[in-house]
Amino acid sequence: MYRTNTCGELRLANVGQTVTLAGWVQRSRDLGGMTFIDLRDRYGITQLAFNMETNAPLCEQARKLGREYVIQVTGKVIERSSKNTKIPTGEIEIEVTEMTILNEAKVPPFTIEDQSDGGDDLRMKYRYLDIRRNPVKNNLIMRHKMAMLVRNYLSDRDFLEIETPMLIKSTPEGARDFVVPSRMNPGEFYALPQSPQQYKQLLMVAGMDRYFQIVRCFRDEDLRADRQPEFTQIDCEMSFVEQEDVLDLFEGMMRHLFKEVIGVEIAPKIPRMSWYDAMDNYGSDKPDIRYGMKIHEITSLVQGHGFSVFDGVEYVGAIAVPGCAGYTRKQTDELTEWVKRPQVGAKGLVYIKVNEDGSVKSSVDKFYTPEEVQAIAAAAGAEKGDLVLVLCGAKRKAQTMLGVLRIEMGNRLGLRNPKEYAPLWVVDFPLLEWDDETQRFYAMHQPFTAPKPEHLDWFYSNKKEDLERVCANAYDFVLNGVELGGGSIRIHEADVQQRMFEVLGISKEDADYKFGFIINAFKFGAPPHGGLAFGFDRVCALFGGQETIRDYIAFPKNNMGRDVMLDAPSRIDDVQMDELFLRSTAPAK
Ligand code: ASP
Repeated sequence: MYRTNTCGELRLANVGQTVTLAGWVQRSRDLGGMTFIDLRDRYGITQLAFNMETNAPLCEQARKLGREYVIQVTGKVIERSSKNTKIPTGEIEIEVTEMTILNEAKVPPFTIEDQSDGGDDLRMKYRYLDIRRNPVKNNLIMRHKMAMLVRNYLSDRDFLEIETPMLIKSTPEGARDFVVPSRMNPGEFYALPQSPQQYKQLLMVAGMDRYFQIVRCFRDEDLRADRQPEFTQIDCEMSFVEQEDVLDLFEGMMRHLFKEVIGVEIAPKIPRMSWYDAMDNYGSDKPDIRYGMKIHEITSLVQGHGFSVFDGVEYVGAIAVPGCAGYTRKQTDELTEWVKRPQVGAKGLVYIKVNEDGSVKSSVDKFYTPEEVQAIAAAAGAEKGDLVLVLCGAKRKAQTMLGVLRIEMGNRLGLRNPKEYAPLWVVDFPLLEWDDETQRFYAMHQPFTAPKPEHLDWFYSNKKEDLERVCANAYDFVLNGVELGGGSIRIHEADVQQRMFEVLGISKEDADYKFGFIINAFKFGAPPHGGLAFGFDRVCALFGGQETIRDYIAFPKNNMGRDVMLDAPSRIDDVQMDELFLRSTAPAK
């Protein structure tokens, strides 16, 4: 037997017992006649004491232990004279009488303590050492707890966890697929699933009624901040449901998670906001509603005064930033440069300072009287002491830029408190999105999302403006400005699905080739159904009060999609290439 107890377990009540512990040497301290070692395992840290007077050879041996040595010790639990109230085992220590070195360790490349001296890359390369540290370890423990809560919650409500294949058919809609060559079918490829979307719908056709899966998904996208090429979803689907049924059930699940994981009670009814309101008021389809600073349209107020920048655009909008009227020229210049960065994409920034005495000062005083500037500031919702920031352009683009600016100002003013949780359902998305470049519609959510029944007339119309007005029976779960999940009621009638493909410019042949199996399945009695998926990594990160998902994944990829520990992806040898009938055209490295 390697141990009788873990390193997180012993308390004053155990004093007098003889125990055996095993773990890693976190730290050792020599204090004259005594040597102390912090012994660590997943459960905690226990102090070991070695006494030069009573057992010199053992104490000498202890002094030679290096960091991260794996040892086993036996000794008596005694009360500590100087207690450490910061750790649960801090009132006791082990007076060691026997010690075995189970394994030596090289000096680790960074300190394995809560505050590490290791940079990101180094910690990723030695992720197995990084995971020994509390911050990462605790994240993984929390992740496990969440997964168990989700499983139990859904299982208690008749959901079945059903695994779906990882090697599937490539359907190049949405993101790029990762593909896998098939040795047995020369020249043919599987794709890794971007999500089990079609399988879960087929499970509804199969009569399974309620499905879920905590499942890995793969998307070959350029990695923007905080994305991983493989990530995990809580994927769900239900039969015989309307939007309200789905929202109700998953609102319940999220409320349960909030309560059990972080002890937070969220409002009994999560607010709902239409996509149009979200865009108009927050410039985002995932608004952070923890603070106001809403966007106000001021187009009609500012046009027709000879300021050509405003006169020539579709939309002018503004936000009022509280308490920032005192911004210096340097600060407004810096903000102007900030919005001009390609990530925001504005051409310039107009501002109005509403001074404490009610007077106004703006960067466009030339074109407007003080009364007019005051009226604009009032329309932007400004009060005394506020700074009004104005951007313009095509409507949705300008709103989006204002949305980005609003988040930035929220960050700068400390309005985005990570300990405050403001969940929200965004509903009534447009079904279709027109793309000028390719001159066609794309499904805003995915091609199986149902149009709202009351919009079917527009859906069958051939006019672009009618099609643009069709809302989807789709919904997103948003928390603190982050989209945590989304889904929809699906199309379950073959003719509506056919029409959807037609609207998306997917020919019958193409649809049959890519989606034939699902179109076919729908002809055999598909029940009305709908579902959603939550980004599990992101839910974990937000519950942990952090924004980056990487810290909640045991072995994440870096921002070039590489596993720096395994050094993957990597080339494969010629024999393997031949077996797969592959030739690489990539330049030699
Ligand atoms: N499959 C969708 C996604 O991955 C979610 C859903 O509609 O259920 O975003």
